[in-house]
Amino acid sequence: MKAESTSTSYDLIIIGAGISGTSLFYLSTEYSNLKNIAIFDKNSREGAVNSHRVMNSQTLHFGDIETNYSYQKAQRVNAAANMVKRYLDAHRADPNESEQLFSVVGKMVVAEGEQEVRELKTRYEDIKQLFEKITYLERDEIEKIEPLMIKGRPLNVPVAAIYTPDGYTIDFQALAKHFVQKAKKKNPDIAQYMNAKIVDVQRFGEGYKVINDQGIEYTTKTLVISACGHSLLFAHSLGIGKHLNLLSVAGSFYESKKTLHNKVYTMQNPKLPFAAIHGDPDVYNTQTTRWGPTAKPIPLLERYNWSTFFEYLRGITPAASLTLFKVLSDWDVFKYVIKNTIFDIPVIGKYFFVRDARKIVPTLKSTDLVKLKRCGGTRPQIIDTKTKTLNLGEAKLTDKNLIINITPSPGASTCLSQAHGDLKLISEFLPNITVDWDRLKNDLGV
Ligand SMILES: Cc1cc2nc3c(=O)[nH]c(=O)nc-3n(C[C@H](O)[C@H](O)[C@H](O)COP(=O)(O)OP(=O)(O)OC[C@H]3O[C@@H](n4cnc5c(N)ncnc54)[C@H](O)[C@@H]3O)c2cc1C
Repeated sequence: MKAESTSTSYDLIIIGAGISGTSLFYLSTEYSNLKNIAIFDKNSREGAVNSHRVMNSQTLHFGDIETNYSYQKAQRVNAAANMVKRYLDAHRADPNESEQLFSVVGKMVVAEGEQEVRELKTRYEDIKQLFEKITYLERDEIEKIEPLMIKGRPLNVPVAAIYTPDGYTIDFQALAKHFVQKAKKKNPDIAQYMNAKIVDVQRFGEGYKVINDQGIEYTTKTLVISACGHSLLFAHSLGIGKHLNLLSVAGSFYESKKTLHNKVYTMQNPKLPFAAIHGDPDVYNTQTTRWGPTAKPIPLLERYNWSTFFEYLRGITPAASLTLFKVLSDWDVFKYVIKNTIFDIPVIGKYFFVRDARKIVPTLKSTDLVKLKRCGGTRPQIIDTKTKTLNLGEAKLTDKNLIINITPSPGASTCLSQAHGDLKLISEFLPNITVDWDRLKNDLGV
C-alpha cells in the first residue's frame, strides 16, 4: 500500500510501523503541528512482526508482578504503561470502535518455597505504595481466586502470591493499527508506505535520505528508526552505537485448555532481562491458557525470517562474539539458556517445560500442552562490547535530527512513553514546531 501523497520530502520519517513507530505516528499527528509525516514498513500490515499478538505475551507491564524490575524501573514502567491504559480506557466506550484491542484481566505472581516467599513478601512491602490495588495472598486466598494453583500442591511447601485485578491483555498489533487510523483521521495527508522495505539510510544536508528496495529516495528533516532489532543495523551504517550488538532471544509458547483465569507470572531472576514463564489467557480466546514464553538465543533478527540471518551475522564482530561468549558463560544465564533451549525442542520439549509450568499449576501434565506453531517473536537484547555486559530493556540512540529505538520487552508497554520522548527530541530538533504538551498530559498523563 502506498500513500496518496506525492511528496518525497518530509519533516519526519518513521521507519517501522510496529507498536513503537505507530505510537509516534499517532502522537506527532495528534499533538503537534507537524503536517509532513511519513511512516514506512516492509510488511503489508502494521504490527506484523514482534507487535503481532501471537508473537508476544500481550501483557501491559506495569512493574507490579515483574519481580526482576528494580523499584525505579517499576516506577518508570508503571508511568509508561499508564499512558497506554489511559489511551485504551478513553477508547473502550467509543461506540465506533469495531476492533477489540484488549481485555481486562487480573494478574498474579506466585512464589514457591521459603526463600521465594520471603523475597516476595519483601517485594510486596517495597512496592505496595506504588500500586494501590495489589494485595499479598496466602495459600487459601490464592485458592479462592485460582483453585488449580493450589490443587495438588504439597502442604509443606510454602506458597504466596501478589495479586492485582488491574491487568490488561492487549492485541498490540490491533493497537498499532488503531494509532494509524486515528492519525490518518486527524490528518489525511500524512503518508503511509507499506510493502516498502528501507534498504539504506544516508545523511543528507542537515537531514536524512532513506532509500527503499525499489531505489526510490525520500528525504526528511528528522528521522526516527523504530525497526526493533533491525534498528541497530541502520545505526551501525550511520556510524552510531558501534559498541552495541544484539543477543536475539526468541520465545515460544505452549497452549492448554483454560486452566487459569488470570495472568500468572513466576518469580524472576533479576540477572535475566526477560520474563520467566507465565500462564495467560489469550486476548481473544479466554477458553485457552497460553504458557511461556521460553527464551532461546537465535542467529536471526526476526523470528521465522531466515533472510535476516545474514543481517544478524553482519553485527557479529569479534568484539561482539567475545561479549556474547562472556554474557552466555555466566552460570545463571547459561543454565537458563540451556534449559529454555530444551523447552523449545519439538515433541519432547514439553516434558521438560511442564516441570516449570507446574510451579503455577501443580497438576498440569505434559499431555495437556500443545506447542503453538510459528508463535513467539524475538527480543533484541542489547549487549555492550565496551562493558561486556547484557543491558536490560529498551535503548534509544540519538544523533543530529535522528532517533533510533531498539525495543525488547517491555517495549510494547512503554510505546507511548517512548514516543513521547521521541516527540520531545523532535521538538528540539525542529524548534519551529509546536506541541500541545498540556493536552497530551491531560489525555495520557506523562
Ligand atoms: C516472546 C515475547 C514476548 C513479549 N511479551 C511482551 C509483553 O507481554 N509486553 C510487552 O510490553 N512487550 C512484550 N514483548 C516485547 C514487544 O513485543 C516488543 O517490545 C514490541 O513489539 C516492539 O515493537 P516495535 O514496534 O519496536 O517492533 P516490531 O513490532 O518488531 O516492529 C518493527 C517494524 O519494523 C519493520 N521493519 C524492520 N526493518 C524494516 C526495514 N528495513 N524497512 C521497513 N520496515 C522495517 C518491521 O516490518 C516491523 O513492522 C515481547 C517480545 C517477545 C519476543
